[in-house]
Amino acid sequence: MFILPDLPYDYNALEPYIDETTMRLHHNKHHQGYVDKLNTALDDDEELLNMPIEKLLANLDRIPDGNRQAVINNGGGHANHSFFWQIMHPAKANSGDIAKPSGILIDAIDETFGNFETFKNKFNEKALGVFGSGWAFLIKNKEGKLQLKKHSFQNSPLMRSCTPILGIDVWEHAYYLKYQNRRSDYIENWWNVVNWEKVSQIFAKTS
Ligand code: MN
Repeated sequence: MFILPDLPYDYNALEPYIDETTMRLHHNKHHQGYVDKLNTALDDDEELLNMPIEKLLANLDRIPDGNRQAVINNGGGHANHSFFWQIMHPAKANSGDIAKPSGILIDAIDETFGNFETFKNKFNEKALGVFGSGWAFLIKNKEGKLQLKKHSFQNSPLMRSCTPILGIDVWEHAYYLKYQNRRSDYIENWWNVVNWEKVSQIFAKTS
């Protein structure tokens, strides 16, 4: 059985950038819904129910045809949200400046995109450019290179043997209560709560 992971912080911890009501609904209702529907789609198959989500999404050919799309949608939703909660944390008080990655991650970003500002602008463009519901990701691809990707719906980078390093949920459920149609304001504010220590660790582990 897949279970909803606890948030690594309180529901109000990302205020004022992401509001408490959005976080409660997003975690308790949306993410819980993906977990419940994933368990249903795996249809009492004990082996699949006990597989790590990364392995399940990398082995979709093991899923019966009639259930595969439900596993893509809800397994992807479970993996994407579990990742998303981890790569955020409360904004540092009085910092003003948006924190930045460190170590080998900043070196790889500089090498791939030129500098952090260029990377951030390109990431924002991807996130703004998602048509409808989806995500923008910084991923490490099979060749070990950093790339920016738009993903529709809950399609997970793990399905394509890519490792998510950073990602933003741009489904309206992630921001509409506070930001309404202003997705660009949500994206810009979200940078304040990116947990670069965690993101840098995730990248280092893949290297
Ligand atoms: Mn979401």
